[in-house]
Amino acid sequence: MKKLSIVVPCYNEEECIPLFYEKTSEVVKELPVKTEFVFVDDGSKDSTLSILRELAGKDERVRYVSFSRNFGKEAALFAGLKHAAGDLVAVMDADLQDPPALLCSMYKGIEEEGYDCVGCRRTTRKNEPKLRSAFARLFYKLINKVTEVEIVDGARDFRMMTRKMTDAILALPEVDRFSKELFSWVGFKTKWLEYENVERAKGTTKWSFKKLTRYAIGGIESATSAPLKINLLFSILFFLACIGFVAADIVQAVLHSYVSSLFVLLPILFFVAACLFFGMYVQSEYIKKIYAQVKSRPLYIEKETEQDLFRK
Ligand code: UDP
Ligand code: MG
Repeated sequence: MKKLSIVVPCYNEEECIPLFYEKTSEVVKELPVKTEFVFVDDGSKDSTLSILRELAGKDERVRYVSFSRNFGKEAALFAGLKHAAGDLVAVMDADLQDPPALLCSMYKGIEEEGYDCVGCRRTTRKNEPKLRSAFARLFYKLINKVTEVEIVDGARDFRMMTRKMTDAILALPEVDRFSKELFSWVGFKTKWLEYENVERAKGTTKWSFKKLTRYAIGGIESATSAPLKINLLFSILFFLACIGFVAADIVQAVLHSYVSSLFVLLPILFFVAACLFFGMYVQSEYIKKIYAQVKSRPLYIEKETEQDLFRK
């Protein structure tokens, strides 16, 4: 029988964990799998850890890792994936915003329909603050313009993956992690389930607007080095301005046999600025390569070889 690991990052989720455990346990009973829960306590300040200890004491399917302080959801997710031993691995939030019932369709998607991953995307952002929704939409538009892989609008981290895909994610050693992009970057055949936004069962969101903005900017930075191109844009703009002023100087000289000193000075300044920005652009092209090298992502990810045929 296959084993399903359910990875759950938790930060101050004392109110949600018992509910989550109860609801999810009921759902997994219907699946023909052995289950393990891998809770990651991300340095909670409430009684999250004692609740996890209690659960692990009475149910051997429950495992937990507790951090020495709050390291953020990305770190918690990575730790959970690292500790997960299952053939299938699901990632879920503790607040029941990821409906446990969908685990059954996810399992079917992988085991019966042959997908490597089944993810979930919210089709609505009902009950979410309007400003937050507007910024989220803008973020997805922007990031999809600059990244080489598609990051699906409304996609949650909530997903079930095969062991191969989980190992591929774990093989990406970068410290500045943005899982939404990593899940897409590793490839694999992904099915999307759609559902309407569900409100958090208890407690409040752990993401302040400031934290979310930092997450969005950090996400763009780690997913792409496209912002470095801004140097080239400025270089071209200054060069065009320089050409414009030189043209204006020639017209002035021909028509009035006179060129004002400002019109001589400005194109020189613009030319110098264009050269400086171009220099920075050249440097940034190398920084881009260094950044890619430092991230040390694999050149490719193998999905299957003939060995898998014999193993089946
Ligand atoms: N979380 C975490 N570390 C953090 C912030 C959040 O492990 O620093 C967990 C949190 O406990 C929850 C999940 O990440 O299980 C999603 O957080 P939340 O529900 O607050 O985010 P939202 O749904 O509002 O985007
Ligand atoms: Mg939530």
